Amino acid sequence: MKNQDIPYKTYLTEEELPTAWYNLRADMKNKPAPLLNPGTGKPLTAEELTPIFCEELVRQELDNDTAFFPIPDEIRDFYKMYRPSPLVRAYCLEKVLDTPAKIYYKFEGNNTSGSHKLNSAIAQAYYAKQQGLKGVTTETGAGQWGTALSMACAYLGLDLKVFMVKVSYEQKPFRREVMRTYGASVTPSPSMETEVGRRILAEFPGTTGSLGCAISEAVEVAVKNPGYRYVLGSVLNQVLLHQSVIGLEAKAAFDKIGVKPDVIIGCAGGGSNLGGLIAPFMGEKLRGEADYRIIAVEPASCPSFTRGVFAYDFCDTGMICPLAKMYTLGSSFIPSANHAGGLRFHGMSTILSQLYHDGLMEARAVEQTSVFQAAEQFARCEGILPAPESSHAIRAAIDEALRCRETGEEKTILFGLTGTGYFDLTAYQQFNDGLMTDTIPTDEDLARSIAALPKVPEE
Ligand SMILES: *Cc1c(COP(=O)(O)O)cnc(C)c1O
Repeated sequence: MKNQDIPYKTYLTEEELPTAWYNLRADMKNKPAPLLNPGTGKPLTAEELTPIFCEELVRQELDNDTAFFPIPDEIRDFYKMYRPSPLVRAYCLEKVLDTPAKIYYKFEGNNTSGSHKLNSAIAQAYYAKQQGLKGVTTETGAGQWGTALSMACAYLGLDLKVFMVKVSYEQKPFRREVMRTYGASVTPSPSMETEVGRRILAEFPGTTGSLGCAISEAVEVAVKNPGYRYVLGSVLNQVLLHQSVIGLEAKAAFDKIGVKPDVIIGCAGGGSNLGGLIAPFMGEKLRGEADYRIIAVEPASCPSFTRGVFAYDFCDTGMICPLAKMYTLGSSFIPSANHAGGLRFHGMSTILSQLYHDGLMEARAVEQTSVFQAAEQFARCEGILPAPESSHAIRAAIDEALRCRETGEEKTILFGLTGTGYFDLTAYQQFNDGLMTDTIPTDEDLARSIAALPKVPEE
């Protein structure tokens, strides 16, 4: 197809929606390291995980070999309410940048949760329902995951208890109300409802909470209440598996218009959207069928890939969760309070960590003021008000396109536009008022939290 024949938007039909998720691990020579039991230091077994997670999700979590997991019809039907998502050719952005690069983005913001998180929320809620559970517990930071999960639980008639990081609970009352409208109960974390919450409050009175702390509380409630399990919206292998629907659709849409991307860019918090977007492309790269440049973009204020270490660490602050081998800043690391752009988790998906360690992808860190500049430029020409998280990917895509302007290269760039920013207007306000600043952790800050990593015997 000639350039000018390529439509602004390429959609798949409902029938063309993927029928199976793709498990990238099946094609990895070096598999991601197993989760360890923090008590014994031994790999966690399915029996140890089933009190925390639903049985089918444990199976998906531990399976490094099965390449495709069929998507149950009920989940596919739910997907049809808001998928397939469009692959958009950013003609207007290309024009503004005056670049020979061809820019595409996969837009995941067309649902009420405003992000890609619904793709995994419906899957996790479905398996909980299948198992006959009463409900699930979870944590949420900015609130996208809690919103997505409350939509999925309402649809399936499951009870949902959300621990919301206290600072967000207070500063983002609208997200909270969306969750409550869908029937979820929302508790600010740390709370007095759990042992770990009471312990953290006793040690740090007045703390405004963190994701790691909210995770500890949600896990405790799930384990102590019969008929409940815990679900997590990022980082885990199962979440990357469900999110592969993004990449599979993108690949099918590219095939439809006869285009192959050269560079694939995504923002990285816990790694789920990036892992999902790159899945089928990385699969081709691992099997030696094609090559792609893949770039993870993270905030300079929470730089797990670019300044972290590849080591076993806790996923939560309360240190009750399994240990995962990942790029991490240490579970005691708390990003600066003036960091508004999301992506605040201290660690990273074990799958992406292994791929990065093996040199199969790149990473870069960007400062939040430059992220919001990119968001503003994008919004003004492409129309969509992007989430701050997504805008990290926009920043890197614009930078790549500007480099093409210098070199004259006609590269094809794909980036993941994970969501919309309607609930992030306080951050946009800071930016518009010229009050946004960049706080980058010092080497000493990072050395402190990295020194507190758990000691794990070398395998
Ligand atoms: C949660 C979220 C992210 C980051 O999470 P990942 O697991 O790294 O994908 C990015 N963008 C949006 C809009 C989000 O809600």
